[in-house]
Amino acid sequence: MSQNQEYSLFEDVCSFVDDAAQHMELHPGLLDQIKQCNSIYKFHFPIRMDDGSYQVVKGYRVQHSHHKLPTKGGIRFSEMVNEQEVMGLSALMTYKCAMVNIPFGGAKGGVNIDPLKYNTRQLEKITRRYTSELIKKKFIGPAIDVPAPDYGTGAREMAWIVDTYEAFNPEAINAKACVTGKPLSQHGIEGRTEATGMGVYIGIREAVSVEEDMKTLGLTTGLKGKKIIIQGLGNVGFYSAKYLTEAGAKVIGIAEWNGGIWDENGIDIEALKNHQVDNKTLEGYSKGKFIKNSIEILEYPCDILVPAALENQITGDNAPKIQAKLIGEAANGPITKEAEKILLDRDIMVIPDMYLNAGGVTVSYFEWLKNLSRVSFGKLEKRYDMEKYKFLVDSIENATGDAFNQEQRDSIIRGASERDLVISGLEETMVTAYHDMNQKRKEKKIKSLRTAAFILAIDRIAISYTDMGIFP
Ligand code: GLU
Repeated sequence: MSQNQEYSLFEDVCSFVDDAAQHMELHPGLLDQIKQCNSIYKFHFPIRMDDGSYQVVKGYRVQHSHHKLPTKGGIRFSEMVNEQEVMGLSALMTYKCAMVNIPFGGAKGGVNIDPLKYNTRQLEKITRRYTSELIKKKFIGPAIDVPAPDYGTGAREMAWIVDTYEAFNPEAINAKACVTGKPLSQHGIEGRTEATGMGVYIGIREAVSVEEDMKTLGLTTGLKGKKIIIQGLGNVGFYSAKYLTEAGAKVIGIAEWNGGIWDENGIDIEALKNHQVDNKTLEGYSKGKFIKNSIEILEYPCDILVPAALENQITGDNAPKIQAKLIGEAANGPITKEAEKILLDRDIMVIPDMYLNAGGVTVSYFEWLKNLSRVSFGKLEKRYDMEKYKFLVDSIENATGDAFNQEQRDSIIRGASERDLVISGLEETMVTAYHDMNQKRKEKKIKSLRTAAFILAIDRIAISYTDMGIFP
C-alpha cells in the first residue's frame, strides 16, 4: 500500500467539511472552531532495547473536538504515523461519533513504530511508557479521553493501557473506562473485536437494500451473489469479509500490503486468514491466484469494493480505473478528495468511512457505559432457575409450532445476553444512521453520501457548541 508523504488527510477532511458547509447556514467562526484540532500533544520517549541500546520513539495524541467529553479514538502503531495523519484521523472521529449519535468528541493517537519489528516485551514497554506520557499530561481518563484499538494495536495493548492507568490512579473507581477494546477478562465487552466489520456488513447491506439506488447503479438489490473485493485482511477486513460472505456475497479478491489473492469462485475467508496467521503473507495459499502487486486488485472487475486498510489508497491515479459500482470505506480515509470527485463523476457510489466503520466506536461506547456502571451483562443466567422457567419456552413452542434447541431455550429463559444487547444496539445504530444519511442526500439533491453524512454530523456539533456558549 503506497503512502505519499505529501498527502495530508487532515486537509482532505477539512475540505470535505467545506463542501458540506456550502449546503448549510453556519457562522464562519463556528465552522472554524469545528474544523480545528483543539489539542495536539506530540512527544518523544526512550526505550531500552534487549541488547542495551536505546531507541527514541515518537508518539502523538490529538483531541480534535471537545464539544462532547470524553474524546474518543484509537491508537495506531505504524511507521507511517505522522502529525497530519493523526490530526486527520482525530477529526474523522469527531464527525463519525456525531454522525451515528455517539456522545463523544473525536481524538486519535499514534506511535511511530513498525510493531512487527519488536517482540512482545518491547511492545509492552512502549505501550506502557506511551500511556504514562498521556497520564502525565492528562490526555487519558474515563471523563477526559478514552483510547481504543486501531491499525497495529488490539485488545492486548488495551489491557496494558488500563493496567498502567490503574497503577497511576489507584483510587479511581471508574478506571476501567479509561480505554475500550479490552480483553473480556479485563472488563471488555462481547462483540467489540468484530464490531467494526459487523458494522461494515450492516452498512453495505442497508445500501444494497434500497431499490431505487441500486437501479441507478445497475445492480440488483440484496447481497446474494454480489462480487466483492476487499483491501486488507486485518481485523476490519477479515470480519467484513466473513459477515458479507455469510450473507450470500462472494469475496473474489483480497489485497494485503505484501500481495493478494484472486479467486472468481469465491475465497474461503477463514482458511485464507489461517494461512496468513501461519505464514505472515497470503503467498503460498493453495487456492486462487497470488498477485504480488496487490494495489492492482482494486481495479479488477467486481460489484463492491471495500478498502479496509489505510488512508490514501484510491487516488487521482487509480480512481479512473476502478470497476466497482459501489465502494464501502471500511478504513479511515481510503479515498482522497481528488479521487472521490472522479468516482462520483463516473456514477460510482461511495459509502463514507465516517459512517461505515462507526461500528467500532459504537460498541466502544457500550463498553465504556458497562465499565462506568460496573455491571456485567453476560452473567444474567445465574439469577434464573432455568428449570422453573421451562414452561415459558414450552408455551412459545406450542403457540408458534417452532422447535428450539437447548442454546435457544436457555437464551429465551435468561433474556438478552451481553452479546445480544451489543449486536442489537449496533444494528439499530447502523441501520438508523444509514437511512438518515441517504435521506439527507436525497433531500439536498446531491450525489455524495459523504457530503450528506458531514451535513448531519456538522449540524449536531454546531448545535452542541452553540448551546454550550463560549468560556469565559
Ligand atoms: N479505531 C477505531 C476507529 O477508527 C475505533 C475507535 C474507538 O472505538 O474509540 O473508529
